[in-house]
Amino acid sequence: MTKIPVNEPMIGGNAVKYVAECVKSGWVSSEGRFIGEFEEAWASFCGGQTGVAVNSGTAALEIAMAALELEPGSEVILPSYTIISCAMAVIAAGGVPVLVDCEADTWCMDVNAVAEKITSRTRAIMPVHIFGHPMDMDPLMELADKHGLAVIEDAAEAHGAEYKGKRVGAIGDMGCFSFYANKIVTSGEGGMVVTRDGTYIERLAYLRNMCFRSDRRFRHTELGRNFRMTNLQAAIGLSQAEAVENHIEIKRRMGTAYGERLGDEPRLALPVERDWAKNVYWMYGIVLGDEVPFDAEEFARRLEAQGIATRPFFLGMHEQPVLRDRGLFKGESYPVSERIARRGLYLPSGLTLTEEQIERVCEAVTAVLDRA
Ligand SMILES: *Cc1c(COP(=O)(O)O)cnc(C)c1O
Repeated sequence: MTKIPVNEPMIGGNAVKYVAECVKSGWVSSEGRFIGEFEEAWASFCGGQTGVAVNSGTAALEIAMAALELEPGSEVILPSYTIISCAMAVIAAGGVPVLVDCEADTWCMDVNAVAEKITSRTRAIMPVHIFGHPMDMDPLMELADKHGLAVIEDAAEAHGAEYKGKRVGAIGDMGCFSFYANKIVTSGEGGMVVTRDGTYIERLAYLRNMCFRSDRRFRHTELGRNFRMTNLQAAIGLSQAEAVENHIEIKRRMGTAYGERLGDEPRLALPVERDWAKNVYWMYGIVLGDEVPFDAEEFARRLEAQGIATRPFFLGMHEQPVLRDRGLFKGESYPVSERIARRGLYLPSGLTLTEEQIERVCEAVTAVLDRA
């Protein structure tokens, strides 16, 4: 029995040609034509933005937060249910992460719970478009406008996902993407911040390159980072950005195929697509109903025995030892995030997944549930 992996990259198109050009020409580090071309291609795909490429999605979040120039102790609102990169970026910028629970069906931050978290110290909000489904942005942008808050979107899982016809990442003040190998568009490792704001663009480019100044090289007035993307990474990234529409179509077909086979299964909650949303199904997550007598960890073990690889859901930020050890989130509870962390996992969702493999995964899922 061959194992079905959770996610394998599918790197085709011009990737080999572009990488060969880097190697043959010697442009292998952070100068060369592909960096600018990738920034341009990705930012315009997002809708009239300008892009600043960096070497990971985490780096993108970090310089986006740094570009806000927060006063120490400024609060940034983000969902508990996300990857730790979000909280790391807030803390690295001198901010204090303030959490909001997620919705039970989209698994994105519950916009109705944001207002009560706004204080006189709040400076920004970081919505995260979870597993390819956009967060409900209109009410969030309204709150941000009303209180003068910056909005930094984490769109690392939602390349090409749409909110009311607008691509995510281009709705807030800045949008952050990851191009890690398991993302919908990859550059191996990589990331990008997209924005329309000229001041941010300049600041982001400065921060990613050690805050070099143009007036006197090697004289620095601020501490920056080396988050530069290489031309080699950008060569792969550009080739994959050229294929993004195809990748999205494959993911959406996968979402439909799983939905058709598991839609009648009352013991599972499946991904949803709000009527204002275009979900790009980065990962096909499922959550076990209360009637299932085991948790996601045991479910994963039983699927593994059938040759099906899965991954657990995120563990909420308020349950992270490293953050609690810093005195954060004392006595706080986010029940939806806690529940899905224990009851959720994602099924094989790679771009190379075949219809037959989806069939096999669904048969295994149903069989494991029936034997519960
Ligand atoms: C993958 C991911 C990141 C981090 O991206 P890296 O390129 O791995 O640093 C950030 N946010 C979310 C929501 C992600 O899924």
